Amino acid sequence: MELDEHVEELASDLDVDEAEVRRDLENLVQYSVPIEEAKGSLRRKYGSGGGGSDEPTPTDVADVSPEDSNVTVTAVVLTVGKRSIRYQGDEQVIYEGELADESGRISYTAWVDFDLSPDDVVTVGNAGVREWEGDPELNLGESTSVSPADGRPDVDYEFGGDRSLADLRVGDRGRNVEAKVVEADRRTIDGRDGETDILDGVLADETARLPFTDWEPREQLREGESVRIENVYVREFRGVPSVNVSAFSTVETLSREVEVAESGTRMGVREAVETGGVYDVELEGTVVAIRDGSGLIQRCPECGRVIQNDECRSHGRVDGEDDLRTKAILDDGTGTVTVVLQRDLTAEVYGGDLDDARQQARDAMDREVVADEIRERFVGRAYRARGHLSVDDFGANLEANDFEAVEESPADRASALLAEVQR
Ligand SMILES: [Zn+2]
Repeated sequence: MELDEHVEELASDLDVDEAEVRRDLENLVQYSVPIEEAKGSLRRKYGSGGGGSDEPTPTDVADVSPEDSNVTVTAVVLTVGKRSIRYQGDEQVIYEGELADESGRISYTAWVDFDLSPDDVVTVGNAGVREWEGDPELNLGESTSVSPADGRPDVDYEFGGDRSLADLRVGDRGRNVEAKVVEADRRTIDGRDGETDILDGVLADETARLPFTDWEPREQLREGESVRIENVYVREFRGVPSVNVSAFSTVETLSREVEVAESGTRMGVREAVETGGVYDVELEGTVVAIRDGSGLIQRCPECGRVIQNDECRSHGRVDGEDDLRTKAILDDGTGTVTVVLQRDLTAEVYGGDLDDARQQARDAMDREVVADEIRERFVGRAYRARGHLSVDDFGANLEANDFEAVEESPADRASALLAEVQR
């Protein structure tokens, strides 16, 4: 059956205007909804007799579940972000943010411009529900109605998107930040539409540092500039939150200078691991062990992965290249994290460079002696490590930029001695 025939059939069954049915049906089909499903949803929308018998009943935000096919909520708009995404091969502008009522809050994606602004109180009729990042999210499309509502729900959430960098979380959208650009590098990537220039760098404020990407490289995002950036979204990049500046973001140079935290965010190990990833964090603890894969190691010359017995998982038999690396387990009493030191930092704490390590291995006729030496120097001592923390199913890893011994206080030394004696 052609679309025309479906439209005719539906319009006569439902006793509604053909043009209206056509518009709805074309929309659904355009989003790749199978025709029978699309017809079913229009039958539900208009009700079999045209009376709207199946209109969703009003739902509290907290009760919305991904199992609901569609819902109606009355809520206040907290945030509105705008960006464009690639949807089925086309650029599509979407609006995203959060709504709240007295029962809770929920994120939404609007595929149509409903002209929402923070503080608007609206009744959203017939919104779809999908699961996003483990939570229900409202989908506002062509068949959704948005109308002003009376009575402002009494909610305790922040309106608008202003946040400090430390408060940004992966999945946030429509956020505004005031920060100083501390690094900015333009580079060319092989994007979906061929080669394109982007800007990569680091933003800092009083609370934290975070990497950012500007997909439309802007002159204002220069090293040393203090800026207000509106309408950014946050994605995970290499295990840490990353600020995404899009075509719809606005950048304004500030006349004041944003204060920047000099060191990384100081946190306890458990607290840091629980955030799921921190871009620049400082942890302090005792090295309790050196893991396998430390010392004089070999890497695949093609991909840089650490290899054993000249075998790379991706590249098969290769001529491995020597390198130095340390994986130290740091424990601060609240939790443990694996601190990864690449060549230069390893050389500092090992007290020799790659050539020294090779020489030591040759003399001993054993490559493991390098790891043993590192173990001897590290284990049982207190260190301060600073770098990027990422957390995945295999554990927490801190890619260290800085690693230095901490002067132990006499009290620490006494308790360490005591522990030694009591063994
Ligand atoms: Zn390889």
